[in-house]
Amino acid sequence: MSPARPAAATPTHCPYCSLQCGIDVVAGDRPATLAPQPDFPTNRGGLCSKGWTAAELLDHPDRLLSPLVRAIDGDRGSPLRPATWDEALGRIAAAIEGCQERHGPDAVGVFGGGGLTNEKAYALGKFARVALRTSSIDYNGRWCMSSAAAASVRSFGVDRGLPFPLDDIAETDAVLLVGSNPAETMPPVMQFFDAGRARGAYHVVVDTRATPTAKGSTLHLQPRPGTDLALANGLLHLAIRAGYVDEEYVATRTTGFEAVRAGVAQYWPDRVERITGVPETHLREATRVLGEAHSAMVLTARGAEQHSTGTRTVHAFINLALALGLPGRRRSGFGSLTGQGNGQGGREHGQKADQLPGYRRLDDPQARAHVAAVWGIDPGELPAPGKSAYEMLDAIGTPGGVRTLLVLASNIAVSAPRGRHVRANLERLDFLAVSDIFRSETAEFADVVLPTAQWAEEEGTMTNLEGRILLRRRALPPPDGVLDDLQMLTALAERLGRGKYFSADARTVFAELRQASAGGAADYAGVTYERIERQQGVFWPCPDESHPGTPRLFTERFPTPDGRARFTRVDHREPADQTDDEYPYLLTTGRLMQHYQSGAQTRRVRSLVMAQPEPFVEMHPDLGRAVGVAAGEFVELRSRRGTAVMRARFTDTVRPDTVFAPFHWGGGATINDLTDPTLDPTSRMPAFKVCAVAVRRLDPQPD
Ligand code: SF4
Repeated sequence: MSPARPAAATPTHCPYCSLQCGIDVVAGDRPATLAPQPDFPTNRGGLCSKGWTAAELLDHPDRLLSPLVRAIDGDRGSPLRPATWDEALGRIAAAIEGCQERHGPDAVGVFGGGGLTNEKAYALGKFARVALRTSSIDYNGRWCMSSAAAASVRSFGVDRGLPFPLDDIAETDAVLLVGSNPAETMPPVMQFFDAGRARGAYHVVVDTRATPTAKGSTLHLQPRPGTDLALANGLLHLAIRAGYVDEEYVATRTTGFEAVRAGVAQYWPDRVERITGVPETHLREATRVLGEAHSAMVLTARGAEQHSTGTRTVHAFINLALALGLPGRRRSGFGSLTGQGNGQGGREHGQKADQLPGYRRLDDPQARAHVAAVWGIDPGELPAPGKSAYEMLDAIGTPGGVRTLLVLASNIAVSAPRGRHVRANLERLDFLAVSDIFRSETAEFADVVLPTAQWAEEEGTMTNLEGRILLRRRALPPPDGVLDDLQMLTALAERLGRGKYFSADARTVFAELRQASAGGAADYAGVTYERIERQQGVFWPCPDESHPGTPRLFTERFPTPDGRARFTRVDHREPADQTDDEYPYLLTTGRLMQHYQSGAQTRRVRSLVMAQPEPFVEMHPDLGRAVGVAAGEFVELRSRRGTAVMRARFTDTVRPDTVFAPFHWGGGATINDLTDPTLDPTSRMPAFKVCAVAVRRLDPQPD
């Protein structure tokens, strides 16, 4: 029997990752307390340490409780001092108007985040196009899901991270999980994987590290970073030779297989072993498992996707899944595990440079006409697609680049690749405004900092990794002096003379989002807050209120013009940032169980900091010996773009040619100062996951 819930509990969701675990918040007497919802379908009573401690941030002493402005307007050297909302918004509006008058509309940029609710992401995209009339908008989800999204749209006609519910993972007979470590990044989801293993399912994990997820699998393949595409092509080569291709499925539900068949003919196993370092016997075993299973899934995540070849790598795994006839088949399929809390909904409703709500394209005349009609403007007023996230930040200080920037829910001073360059560009801006809950590293560069409401203080919807639209409920009001971003954007739009187009009420914004998304790929037209409450979430597409929602996609056809999925021939290329005598090792980065993204929140939670107090780099003992470093000593990592200093930890879970560092810290340990901004040509995803580095013992060692 489930434990009784406190009468005063407000059911809502964890603020962090895309699993969006169900949480009950009791906020009668602050500080608020929380407990997992025992019956919510994605966590079933489970929470990770981040979720358990999320209420600590609501009353944290570092919390921003009033706007901050520079003591001397226009002087970044002067300290930030508290200000009224009137003064803060007045400074932002004046900066926007002055900048656009002098340099044109595109000189004002907007940078959003994958943690914003659907309503806020939608309002932000509309604010950029309608209030600012700028093409300069993108968001940090460009750095998470864009390669998976690009490949899925081209292959399947739509991008929904998982086209099936998590329950299906527990029921499938074989899983190929590539570049994901959910045992540490979203532990409650392991219930589904563990249930599958307990039934006898065979799980293959592909990861450059022997993570807890990899150690718990049936078979771990440990390739060199940046070689997943060759691995996927090698598996397909073997599957074809072994006769595992579902010829009928390929003939009736797909196009383009012959070109792929010809392409992977060159990926014979010993060549793939040379490229990837994965033994031929393991390649054959993984192929056998996938080929002989009655049901199977291929799942990718950032380890495979955050490369300058990320889109093509995802295509290679989709090709494998299509050849085996998996997408659309019961308990089978291809999926990509979304990372950020609203990483799915945040990429659907218009905060992306090339996109309008409902997954419509900004360069599609019909899409422009539809959305402009909902917004009550002329389609000709909508700007053209703008630059992607890194390109927008990179162009600051160049002719035509952004000169005034508004940042919401993103800590780009820590999370952008080639970080030192990006921070130098933030300094070059004429004006920077940041909305956040804490004085993040990015806020330190700002002319104006705006305090914003937190997860338990606001209403809105989030869309989780399954494409399930959820309700974030308000358990308590924000502290006095704190507004939420819908209120802030509406007030700012009013100052810019465009207030009539905006609402600060989440339900009103959602009603408009439903209209704007109607008929689009991510169709929310039939979703209401009441239905979400009743059904524990609604899966999109859901085109009208009588439609049940769509937990499983592709069962009959793919949403492409001819109803078929597309194979795409792709070939392995070495990473752009190559090792040499000066930079002989590979760096890969990732997350820890206790911290989240840039760490702006979790570095402030006492128990999480006690468990993981400081930055570190993991290296194999053989590499430590080779470079003369002892465990626990400080090392300098250096790439062609920058350096970072952190303590060395020895472990045999990493390859001797590779070091691993988490990306949760700033200052002198900002690992993204080293990472490679080379962009995937399709998705514009930087090559976060692999770059060449040198490793040196610091001498003298810091005290
Ligand atoms: Fe929150 Fe994700 Fe942890 Fe669940 S798994 S508690 S959503 S961080």
